[in-house]
Amino acid sequence: MDVFGQRVETSPTATALVAGEREWSYADLDAGVERVTGRLAALGLGPGDHLGILTETRPAAVELVHAAARLGCVLVAFNARLTPSELGSQVERADLAALVCAADTEATAVDVADGIPVASLDGTTTDDATALDTVDPADFEPSPRPADRPALLLATSGTTGEPKLVVLTGENLRSSAVASAFRLGTSPDDRWLDPLSVYHMGGFAPIFRSAFYGTAVVLPEGGFDPETTLAALDDHDCTGVSLVPTMLRRLLDAGSLPDSLRFVLLGGAPTPSELVERCARRGVPVHPTYGMTETASQVATARPEEAITHTGTVGRPLFGTRLSMLDDAGNPVETGETGEIVVSGPTVFEGYYGDDDATASAFSEAGFHTGDVGHRDAAGRLWVTGRLDDRIQTGGELVDPGEVAAVLRNHPAVEDVAVVGLPDPEWGERVGAVVVAEREVDREGLDAHCRERLAGFKLPRAMAFADSLPRTASGTVERDVVRAYLRNHGE
Ligand code: ATP
Ligand code: MG
Repeated sequence: MDVFGQRVETSPTATALVAGEREWSYADLDAGVERVTGRLAALGLGPGDHLGILTETRPAAVELVHAAARLGCVLVAFNARLTPSELGSQVERADLAALVCAADTEATAVDVADGIPVASLDGTTTDDATALDTVDPADFEPSPRPADRPALLLATSGTTGEPKLVVLTGENLRSSAVASAFRLGTSPDDRWLDPLSVYHMGGFAPIFRSAFYGTAVVLPEGGFDPETTLAALDDHDCTGVSLVPTMLRRLLDAGSLPDSLRFVLLGGAPTPSELVERCARRGVPVHPTYGMTETASQVATARPEEAITHTGTVGRPLFGTRLSMLDDAGNPVETGETGEIVVSGPTVFEGYYGDDDATASAFSEAGFHTGDVGHRDAAGRLWVTGRLDDRIQTGGELVDPGEVAAVLRNHPAVEDVAVVGLPDPEWGERVGAVVVAEREVDREGLDAHCRERLAGFKLPRAMAFADSLPRTASGTVERDVVRAYLRNHGE
Protein backbone atom coordinates (compact mmCIF):
# COMPACT_ATOMS: atom_id res chain seq x y z
CA MET A 1 0.00 0.00 0.00
CA ASP A 2 1.77 3.14 -1.17
CA VAL A 3 -0.44 5.91 0.19
CA PHE A 4 2.19 8.57 -0.33
CA GLY A 5 2.95 7.45 -3.91
CA GLN A 6 -0.73 7.58 -4.82
CA ARG A 7 -1.01 11.01 -3.25
CA VAL A 8 1.94 12.31 -5.30
CA GLU A 9 0.17 11.13 -8.46
CA THR A 10 -3.15 12.72 -7.60
CA SER A 11 -2.06 15.97 -5.87
CA PRO A 12 1.52 16.78 -6.96
CA THR A 13 1.18 20.54 -6.44
CA ALA A 14 -0.68 20.47 -3.11
CA THR A 15 1.36 21.43 -0.05
CA ALA A 16 2.60 18.32 1.73
CA LEU A 17 4.90 19.63 4.44
CA VAL A 18 5.70 22.93 6.13
CA ALA A 19 8.58 23.47 8.56
CA GLY A 20 9.86 26.89 9.51
CA GLU A 21 10.27 28.91 6.33
CA ARG A 22 10.23 25.86 4.06
CA GLU A 23 7.29 24.36 2.20
CA TRP A 24 7.23 21.18 0.15
CA SER A 25 4.61 20.27 -2.43
CA TYR A 26 3.87 16.54 -2.79
CA ALA A 27 6.12 16.53 -5.87
CA ASP A 28 8.95 18.24 -3.94
CA LEU A 29 8.65 15.83 -1.07
CA ASP A 30 8.52 12.92 -3.48
CA ALA A 31 11.96 13.84 -4.85
CA GLY A 32 13.40 13.64 -1.32
CA VAL A 33 11.55 10.42 -0.53
CA GLU A 34 12.82 8.83 -3.74
CA ARG A 35 16.43 9.73 -2.84
CA VAL A 36 16.11 8.43 0.70
CA THR A 37 14.50 5.22 -0.55
CA GLY A 38 17.49 4.68 -2.86
CA ARG A 39 19.89 5.27 0.04
CA LEU A 40 18.05 2.80 2.25
CA ALA A 41 18.21 0.28 -0.61
CA ALA A 42 21.97 0.93 -0.87
CA LEU A 43 22.27 0.10 2.84
CA GLY A 44 20.81 -3.30 1.98
CA LEU A 45 17.22 -2.78 3.03
CA GLY A 46 14.42 -4.43 1.09
CA PRO A 47 10.80 -5.53 1.31
CA GLY A 48 9.78 -6.88 4.72
CA ASP A 49 12.88 -5.62 6.50
CA HIS A 50 12.48 -3.76 9.77
CA LEU A 51 13.82 -0.22 9.57
CA GLY A 52 14.40 1.36 13.00
CA ILE A 53 14.33 5.11 13.41
CA LEU A 54 15.48 7.04 16.47
CA THR A 55 14.63 10.67 15.90
CA GLU A 56 12.20 13.40 16.90
CA THR A 57 9.67 14.60 14.33
CA ARG A 58 11.37 16.64 11.57
CA PRO A 59 11.17 16.83 7.77
CA ALA A 60 13.78 14.08 7.34
CA ALA A 61 11.68 11.81 9.58
CA VAL A 62 8.65 12.43 7.35
CA GLU A 63 10.78 11.38 4.34
CA LEU A 64 11.84 8.23 6.19
CA VAL A 65 8.24 7.30 6.98
CA HIS A 66 7.28 7.44 3.29
CA ALA A 67 10.56 5.94 2.07
CA ALA A 68 10.12 2.90 4.32
CA ALA A 69 6.63 2.36 2.84
CA ARG A 70 7.96 2.73 -0.72
CA LEU A 71 10.61 0.11 -0.13
CA GLY A 72 8.14 -2.21 1.58
CA CYS A 73 9.92 -1.98 4.93
CA VAL A 74 8.22 -2.15 8.31
CA LEU A 75 8.97 1.09 10.13
CA VAL A 76 9.95 0.73 13.79
CA ALA A 77 9.96 4.12 15.49
CA PHE A 78 11.74 4.22 18.85
CA ASN A 79 11.49 6.82 21.58
CA ALA A 80 14.41 9.17 20.93
CA ARG A 81 14.56 10.22 24.58
CA LEU A 82 15.36 6.82 26.02
CA THR A 83 18.75 5.94 27.45
CA PRO A 84 20.70 3.02 25.94
CA SER A 85 19.69 0.77 28.84
CA GLU A 86 15.99 1.57 28.35
CA LEU A 87 16.19 1.20 24.58
CA GLY A 88 18.44 -1.86 24.41
CA SER A 89 15.81 -4.52 24.99
CA GLN A 90 13.34 -2.90 22.57
CA VAL A 91 15.93 -2.82 19.79
CA GLU A 92 16.93 -6.38 20.53
CA ARG A 93 13.32 -7.56 20.24
CA ALA A 94 12.59 -5.62 17.04
CA ASP A 95 14.69 -7.65 14.54
CA LEU A 96 16.08 -4.58 12.83
CA ALA A 97 17.91 -4.60 9.50
CA ALA A 98 19.16 -1.03 10.07
CA LEU A 99 18.74 1.87 12.47
CA VAL A 100 18.58 5.52 11.40
CA CYS A 101 19.43 8.10 14.06
CA ALA A 102 20.04 11.85 14.33
CA ALA A 103 22.96 13.86 15.71
CA ASP A 104 21.55 13.83 19.24
CA THR A 105 20.74 10.10 19.22
CA GLU A 106 23.84 8.80 17.45
CA ALA A 107 25.69 7.79 20.60
CA THR A 108 22.64 5.88 21.89
CA ALA A 109 21.99 4.26 18.49
CA VAL A 110 25.58 3.07 18.19
CA ASP A 111 25.48 1.80 21.76
CA VAL A 112 22.38 -0.37 21.22
CA ALA A 113 22.93 -1.37 17.57
CA ASP A 114 24.85 -4.57 18.35
CA GLY A 115 26.04 -5.16 14.79
CA ILE A 116 23.05 -3.58 13.00
CA PRO A 117 24.14 -0.89 10.50
CA VAL A 118 23.53 2.64 11.83
CA ALA A 119 22.97 5.64 9.56
CA SER A 120 22.51 9.23 10.69
CA LEU A 121 20.29 11.96 9.26
CA ASP A 122 23.04 14.40 10.24
CA GLY A 123 26.82 14.34 9.99
CA THR A 124 28.37 11.60 12.09
CA THR A 125 30.72 11.91 15.03
CA THR A 126 31.80 8.27 15.18
CA ASP A 127 33.04 5.71 12.65
CA ASP A 128 30.26 3.40 13.74
CA ALA A 129 27.59 5.34 11.88
CA THR A 130 27.24 6.42 8.25
CA ALA A 131 25.90 9.82 7.23
CA LEU A 132 22.79 8.93 5.22
CA ASP A 133 23.32 11.90 2.86
CA THR A 134 26.69 10.52 1.75
CA VAL A 135 25.26 7.16 0.64
CA ASP A 136 24.84 6.82 -3.15
CA PRO A 137 21.23 5.88 -3.87
CA ALA A 138 20.86 2.39 -5.34
CA ASP A 139 18.23 1.24 -7.83
CA PHE A 140 15.16 -0.27 -6.20
CA GLU A 141 11.73 -1.56 -7.11
CA PRO A 142 8.90 0.18 -5.25
CA SER A 143 7.37 -2.66 -3.24
CA PRO A 144 4.29 -1.43 -1.42
CA ARG A 145 3.22 -3.82 1.33
CA PRO A 146 -0.21 -5.41 1.13
CA ALA A 147 -2.57 -3.53 3.44
CA ASP A 148 -3.10 -6.53 5.69
CA ARG A 149 0.61 -6.91 6.44
CA PRO A 150 2.46 -5.14 9.27
CA ALA A 151 3.52 -1.61 8.32
CA LEU A 152 4.50 0.00 11.60
CA LEU A 153 5.83 -1.08 14.99
CA LEU A 154 5.47 1.41 17.83
CA ALA A 155 6.22 0.89 21.49
CA THR A 156 3.58 1.68 24.11
CA SER A 157 4.56 4.31 26.66
CA GLY A 158 5.41 1.76 29.35
CA THR A 159 3.09 3.28 31.93
CA THR A 160 2.09 -0.11 33.34
CA GLY A 161 5.36 -2.01 32.84
CA GLU A 162 7.86 -2.70 30.07
CA PRO A 163 6.82 -0.97 26.82
CA LYS A 164 5.26 -3.45 24.37
CA LEU A 165 5.93 -3.35 20.61
CA VAL A 166 2.59 -2.91 18.88
CA VAL A 167 2.22 -4.28 15.33
CA LEU A 168 -0.02 -2.13 13.13
CA THR A 169 -0.98 -2.92 9.53
CA GLY A 170 -1.54 -0.48 6.68
CA GLU A 171 -5.24 -1.24 7.05
CA ASN A 172 -5.18 -0.24 10.74
CA LEU A 173 -3.62 3.12 9.83
CA ARG A 174 -5.97 3.70 6.91
CA SER A 175 -9.12 2.78 8.85
CA SER A 176 -8.07 5.13 11.61
CA ALA A 177 -7.46 7.96 9.12
CA VAL A 178 -10.90 7.44 7.55
CA ALA A 179 -12.74 7.25 10.86
CA SER A 180 -10.90 10.28 12.23
CA ALA A 181 -11.88 12.31 9.16
CA PHE A 182 -15.51 11.32 9.65
CA ARG A 183 -15.36 12.83 13.15
CA LEU A 184 -13.11 15.86 12.57
CA GLY A 185 -13.87 16.55 8.91
CA THR A 186 -11.22 17.14 6.28
CA SER A 187 -10.73 19.92 3.76
CA PRO A 188 -8.13 20.29 0.98
CA ASP A 189 -6.83 23.43 2.71
CA ASP A 190 -6.14 21.68 6.01
CA ARG A 191 -2.82 22.27 7.72
CA TRP A 192 -2.23 20.04 10.71
CA LEU A 193 0.38 21.16 13.22
CA ASP A 194 2.16 18.20 14.79
CA PRO A 195 4.30 19.07 17.82
CA LEU A 196 4.15 15.44 19.08
CA SER A 197 6.84 12.83 18.55
CA VAL A 198 6.78 10.56 15.50
CA TYR A 199 7.44 7.58 17.79
CA HIS A 200 4.13 8.09 19.62
CA MET A 201 0.88 7.22 17.84
CA GLY A 202 -0.45 10.75 18.30
CA GLY A 203 2.61 12.20 16.57
CA PHE A 204 2.80 9.61 13.79
CA ALA A 205 -0.89 9.86 12.85
CA PRO A 206 -0.86 13.42 11.40
CA ILE A 207 2.08 12.50 9.14
CA PHE A 208 0.35 9.44 7.68
CA ARG A 209 -3.08 11.07 7.54
CA SER A 210 -1.94 14.25 5.84
CA ALA A 211 -0.53 12.14 2.99
CA PHE A 212 -3.73 10.09 2.92
CA TYR A 213 -5.93 13.22 2.81
CA GLY A 214 -3.64 15.20 0.47
CA THR A 215 -3.27 17.97 3.04
CA ALA A 216 -0.27 19.55 4.77
CA VAL A 217 1.47 18.55 7.97
CA VAL A 218 3.19 21.45 9.74
CA LEU A 219 6.17 20.83 12.02
CA PRO A 220 7.14 23.41 14.63
CA GLU A 221 10.89 23.90 14.79
CA GLY A 222 12.94 22.73 17.76
CA GLY A 223 10.44 20.69 19.77
CA PHE A 224 7.53 22.00 21.83
CA ASP A 225 7.69 25.53 23.11
CA PRO A 226 4.50 27.56 23.73
CA GLU A 227 5.64 30.73 21.94
CA THR A 228 7.03 29.05 18.81
CA THR A 229 4.03 26.70 18.64
CA LEU A 230 1.58 29.62 18.82
CA ALA A 231 3.62 31.45 16.18
CA ALA A 232 3.63 28.39 13.90
CA LEU A 233 -0.15 27.97 14.28
CA ASP A 234 -0.67 31.59 13.32
CA ASP A 235 1.99 31.98 10.60
CA HIS A 236 0.87 28.89 8.72
CA ASP A 237 -2.91 29.35 9.16
CA CYS A 238 -3.13 25.94 10.77
CA THR A 239 -6.57 24.34 10.80
CA GLY A 240 -5.74 21.51 13.21
CA VAL A 241 -3.30 20.58 15.94
CA SER A 242 -2.63 17.48 18.04
CA LEU A 243 -1.74 18.11 21.67
CA VAL A 244 -1.62 16.51 25.10
CA PRO A 245 -3.47 18.42 27.86
CA THR A 246 -0.34 19.89 29.49
CA MET A 247 0.70 21.40 26.15
CA LEU A 248 -2.71 22.99 25.61
CA ARG A 249 -2.65 24.50 29.09
CA ARG A 250 0.76 26.05 28.38
CA LEU A 251 -0.45 27.42 25.04
CA LEU A 252 -3.51 29.04 26.66
CA ASP A 253 -1.27 30.53 29.36
CA ALA A 254 1.07 31.96 26.73
CA GLY A 255 -1.44 33.55 24.34
CA SER A 256 -4.33 33.02 21.92
CA LEU A 257 -4.89 30.26 19.44
CA PRO A 258 -5.69 31.55 15.93
CA ASP A 259 -9.23 31.59 14.49
CA SER A 260 -8.05 29.43 11.59
CA LEU A 261 -8.14 26.38 13.91
CA ARG A 262 -10.93 23.91 13.18
CA PHE A 263 -9.89 21.26 15.67
CA VAL A 264 -7.62 20.78 18.65
CA LEU A 265 -7.24 17.02 19.03
CA LEU A 266 -6.43 16.44 22.69
CA GLY A 267 -5.44 13.01 23.94
CA GLY A 268 -3.03 10.82 25.85
CA ALA A 269 -4.42 11.72 29.27
CA PRO A 270 -7.69 12.93 30.80
CA THR A 271 -8.71 16.49 29.91
CA PRO A 272 -9.33 18.41 33.16
CA SER A 273 -12.77 20.09 33.12
CA GLU A 274 -11.11 23.39 33.93
CA LEU A 275 -9.24 23.15 30.61
CA VAL A 276 -12.45 22.46 28.68
CA GLU A 277 -14.05 25.48 30.34
CA ARG A 278 -11.13 27.70 29.37
CA CYS A 279 -11.45 26.46 25.78
CA ALA A 280 -15.20 27.18 25.81
CA ARG A 281 -14.64 30.73 27.07
CA ARG A 282 -12.01 31.38 24.41
CA GLY A 283 -13.71 29.65 21.50
CA VAL A 284 -11.06 26.93 21.16
CA PRO A 285 -12.53 23.91 19.30
CA VAL A 286 -11.26 21.23 21.67
CA HIS A 287 -11.89 17.55 20.95
CA PRO A 288 -11.07 15.47 24.06
CA THR A 289 -9.95 12.08 22.80
CA TYR A 290 -9.32 8.63 24.14
CA GLY A 291 -6.92 6.44 22.25
CA MET A 292 -3.82 4.31 22.46
CA THR A 293 -1.02 2.79 20.45
CA GLU A 294 -2.88 -0.53 20.02
CA THR A 295 -5.81 1.14 18.26
CA ALA A 296 -3.73 3.27 15.89
CA SER A 297 -4.75 6.32 18.00
CA GLN A 298 -8.36 7.51 18.47
CA VAL A 299 -11.00 5.17 19.91
CA ALA A 300 -13.46 7.92 20.83
CA THR A 301 -13.41 11.66 20.24
CA ALA A 302 -15.80 14.27 21.65
CA ARG A 303 -17.02 17.29 19.73
CA PRO A 304 -16.37 20.68 21.37
CA GLU A 305 -20.08 21.24 22.23
CA GLU A 306 -20.46 17.87 23.90
CA ALA A 307 -17.16 18.30 25.76
CA ILE A 308 -18.82 21.25 27.46
CA THR A 309 -22.33 19.89 27.95
CA HIS A 310 -21.05 16.51 29.19
CA THR A 311 -18.05 17.29 31.36
CA GLY A 312 -15.28 14.74 31.23
CA THR A 313 -16.57 12.73 28.27
CA VAL A 314 -14.35 11.63 25.40
CA GLY A 315 -17.44 11.34 23.20
CA ARG A 316 -18.68 8.45 21.12
CA PRO A 317 -16.46 5.83 19.52
CA LEU A 318 -15.28 6.56 15.99
CA PHE A 319 -17.03 5.01 13.01
CA GLY A 320 -16.19 1.30 12.80
CA THR A 321 -14.95 1.05 16.38
CA ARG A 322 -17.06 -1.03 18.74
CA LEU A 323 -16.84 -0.82 22.52
CA SER A 324 -17.84 -3.31 25.17
CA MET A 325 -17.76 -2.44 28.85
CA LEU A 326 -17.07 -5.64 30.76
CA ASP A 327 -16.99 -6.64 34.41
CA ASP A 328 -14.22 -8.77 35.95
CA ALA A 329 -15.99 -11.93 34.80
CA GLY A 330 -16.13 -10.67 31.20
CA ASN A 331 -19.86 -9.89 31.21
CA PRO A 332 -21.25 -6.59 29.90
CA VAL A 333 -22.07 -4.05 32.62
CA GLU A 334 -25.22 -1.90 32.64
CA THR A 335 -25.25 1.55 31.06
CA GLY A 336 -23.64 3.98 33.49
CA GLU A 337 -21.82 1.23 35.40
CA THR A 338 -18.04 1.05 35.48
CA GLY A 339 -16.32 -1.67 33.45
CA GLU A 340 -13.20 -2.43 31.49
CA ILE A 341 -13.13 -0.83 28.03
CA VAL A 342 -12.81 -3.53 25.36
CA VAL A 343 -12.33 -2.39 21.76
CA SER A 344 -12.85 -4.12 18.43
CA GLY A 345 -12.86 -2.90 14.85
CA PRO A 346 -10.53 -2.27 11.93
CA THR A 347 -8.08 -0.04 13.82
CA VAL A 348 -7.26 -2.68 16.44
CA PHE A 349 -3.68 -3.99 16.19
CA GLU A 350 -2.47 -7.49 15.25
CA GLY A 351 -0.60 -8.26 18.43
CA TYR A 352 2.56 -7.46 20.36
CA TYR A 353 5.68 -8.21 18.34
CA GLY A 354 7.47 -11.30 19.58
CA ASP A 355 5.23 -11.63 22.64
CA ASP A 356 2.51 -14.20 22.02
CA ASP A 357 1.70 -14.46 25.72
CA ALA A 358 1.01 -10.74 26.08
CA THR A 359 -1.03 -10.84 22.86
CA ALA A 360 -3.09 -13.81 24.02
CA SER A 361 -3.90 -12.24 27.36
CA ALA A 362 -4.85 -8.89 25.76
CA PHE A 363 -7.58 -10.36 23.54
CA SER A 364 -10.86 -12.15 24.20
CA GLU A 365 -13.82 -12.84 21.92
CA ALA A 366 -15.06 -9.32 22.73
CA GLY A 367 -11.87 -7.73 21.38
CA PHE A 368 -8.82 -5.98 22.80
CA HIS A 369 -8.84 -5.48 26.56
CA THR A 370 -7.45 -1.98 27.03
CA GLY A 371 -6.88 -2.28 30.78
CA ASP A 372 -8.70 1.07 31.09
CA VAL A 373 -11.93 1.47 33.01
CA GLY A 374 -14.83 3.79 32.37
CA HIS A 375 -18.55 3.98 31.72
CA ARG A 376 -20.94 5.01 28.94
CA ASP A 377 -24.17 6.97 29.09
CA ALA A 378 -27.42 6.04 27.37
CA ALA A 379 -26.40 8.08 24.31
CA GLY A 380 -23.21 6.04 23.96
CA ARG A 381 -20.75 8.66 25.19
CA LEU A 382 -17.69 7.31 26.96
CA TRP A 383 -16.01 8.47 30.15
CA VAL A 384 -12.56 7.05 30.91
CA THR A 385 -11.94 7.04 34.64
CA GLY A 386 -8.67 5.17 35.07
CA ARG A 387 -6.77 1.94 34.61
CA LEU A 388 -7.71 -1.49 35.90
CA ASP A 389 -4.30 -1.83 37.58
CA ASP A 390 -4.77 1.46 39.40
CA ARG A 391 -7.93 0.41 41.21
CA ILE A 392 -7.52 0.63 44.93
CA GLN A 393 -8.47 -2.34 47.14
CA THR A 394 -9.39 -1.03 50.54
CA GLY A 395 -11.03 -3.12 53.24
CA GLY A 396 -12.54 -5.47 50.66
CA GLU A 397 -13.96 -2.62 48.54
CA LEU A 398 -12.70 -1.58 45.10
CA VAL A 399 -12.20 2.14 44.53
CA ASP A 400 -11.78 3.63 41.08
CA PRO A 401 -9.22 6.43 41.58
CA GLY A 402 -10.68 8.24 38.54
CA GLU A 403 -13.99 8.66 40.36
CA VAL A 404 -12.31 10.19 43.41
CA ALA A 405 -10.13 12.40 41.19
CA ALA A 406 -13.19 13.63 39.28
CA VAL A 407 -14.90 14.67 42.54
CA LEU A 408 -11.81 16.56 43.73
CA ARG A 409 -11.31 18.14 40.30
CA ASN A 410 -14.82 19.58 40.49
CA HIS A 411 -13.87 21.61 43.57
CA PRO A 412 -13.40 25.18 42.32
CA ALA A 413 -9.99 25.58 43.94
CA VAL A 414 -8.55 22.39 42.43
CA GLU A 415 -6.60 22.69 39.21
CA ASP A 416 -5.28 19.17 38.95
CA VAL A 417 -5.22 16.02 41.06
CA ALA A 418 -3.83 12.50 41.14
CA VAL A 419 -5.39 9.74 43.23
CA VAL A 420 -3.44 6.56 44.06
CA GLY A 421 -3.55 3.61 46.44
CA LEU A 422 -1.10 3.55 49.33
CA PRO A 423 -0.20 0.42 51.29
CA ASP A 424 -2.12 0.25 54.54
CA PRO A 425 -1.46 -2.30 57.29
CA GLU A 426 -5.10 -2.49 58.32
CA TRP A 427 -7.09 -2.01 55.10
CA GLY A 428 -4.66 -3.40 52.50
CA GLU A 429 -4.65 -0.08 50.71
CA ARG A 430 -5.95 3.41 51.43
CA VAL A 431 -6.81 6.26 49.11
CA GLY A 432 -4.21 9.03 48.69
CA ALA A 433 -4.48 12.27 46.72
CA VAL A 434 -2.00 14.90 45.56
CA VAL A 435 -3.73 18.18 44.77
CA VAL A 436 -2.54 21.09 42.67
CA ALA A 437 -4.55 24.05 43.96
CA GLU A 438 -5.48 26.99 41.77
CA ARG A 439 -6.08 29.16 44.82
CA GLU A 440 -6.00 28.94 48.61
CA VAL A 441 -7.79 25.87 49.94
CA ASP A 442 -7.25 23.75 53.02
CA ARG A 443 -7.49 20.06 53.70
CA GLU A 444 -10.71 20.49 55.75
CA GLY A 445 -12.49 22.18 52.84
CA LEU A 446 -11.54 19.38 50.46
CA ASP A 447 -12.47 16.69 52.95
CA ALA A 448 -15.92 18.23 53.42
CA HIS A 449 -16.38 18.45 49.65
CA CYS A 450 -15.50 14.76 49.27
CA ARG A 451 -17.62 13.60 52.24
CA GLU A 452 -20.71 15.08 50.60
CA ARG A 453 -20.12 13.15 47.40
CA LEU A 454 -18.28 9.92 48.16
CA ALA A 455 -18.86 6.85 50.32
CA GLY A 456 -16.58 6.64 53.36
CA PHE A 457 -14.26 3.96 51.94
CA LYS A 458 -13.54 6.17 48.89
CA LEU A 459 -12.42 9.21 50.89
CA PRO A 460 -8.76 10.24 50.61
CA ARG A 461 -7.02 9.29 53.86
CA ALA A 462 -3.73 10.89 52.86
CA MET A 463 -3.49 14.20 51.04
CA ALA A 464 -0.68 16.49 49.97
CA PHE A 465 -0.39 19.65 47.90
CA ALA A 466 2.08 20.16 45.04
CA ASP A 467 2.84 22.82 42.41
CA SER A 468 2.40 20.36 39.55
CA LEU A 469 1.97 16.64 38.93
CA PRO A 470 4.77 14.46 37.58
CA ARG A 471 3.81 13.42 34.06
CA THR A 472 5.31 11.39 31.24
CA ALA A 473 5.90 13.01 27.84
CA SER A 474 2.44 11.92 26.71
CA GLY A 475 0.85 13.53 29.76
CA THR A 476 0.00 10.48 31.89
CA VAL A 477 0.62 10.89 35.60
CA GLU A 478 3.62 8.99 36.96
CA ARG A 479 1.82 7.19 39.76
CA ASP A 480 4.92 5.80 41.46
CA VAL A 481 6.30 9.33 41.82
CA VAL A 482 2.95 10.47 43.25
CA ARG A 483 3.04 7.59 45.75
CA ALA A 484 6.57 8.48 46.84
CA TYR A 485 5.55 12.13 47.21
CA LEU A 486 2.62 11.16 49.42
CA ARG A 487 4.89 9.00 51.57
CA ASN A 488 7.07 12.06 52.20
CA HIS A 489 4.43 14.81 52.35
CA GLY A 490 1.05 13.16 52.90
CA GLU A 491 -0.84 13.29 56.13
P1 ATP B 1 1.64 0.85 28.50
O1 ATP B 1 0.59 0.23 27.63
O2 ATP B 1 3.01 0.43 28.12
O3 ATP B 1 1.37 0.70 29.95
P2 ATP B 1 0.40 3.38 27.82
O4 ATP B 1 -0.88 2.61 27.86
O5 ATP B 1 0.48 4.63 28.62
O6 ATP B 1 1.62 2.44 28.23
P3 ATP B 1 -0.04 4.58 25.24
O7 ATP B 1 -0.55 3.63 24.22
O8 ATP B 1 0.88 5.65 24.78
O9 ATP B 1 0.75 3.74 26.32
O10 ATP B 1 -1.21 5.32 25.98
C1 ATP B 1 -2.55 4.93 25.90
C2 ATP B 1 -3.20 5.04 27.26
O11 ATP B 1 -3.28 6.42 27.69
C3 ATP B 1 -4.63 4.56 27.30
O12 ATP B 1 -4.72 3.16 27.39
C4 ATP B 1 -5.16 5.27 28.54
O13 ATP B 1 -4.79 4.59 29.73
C5 ATP B 1 -4.43 6.61 28.50
N1 ATP B 1 -5.31 7.62 27.89
C6 ATP B 1 -5.32 8.04 26.62
N2 ATP B 1 -6.27 8.98 26.42
C7 ATP B 1 -6.90 9.14 27.60
C8 ATP B 1 -7.99 9.95 28.06
N3 ATP B 1 -8.60 10.81 27.26
N4 ATP B 1 -8.37 9.81 29.34
C9 ATP B 1 -7.74 8.95 30.17
N5 ATP B 1 -6.71 8.17 29.81
C10 ATP B 1 -6.29 8.27 28.55
MG1 MG C 1 -1.34 0.70 27.31
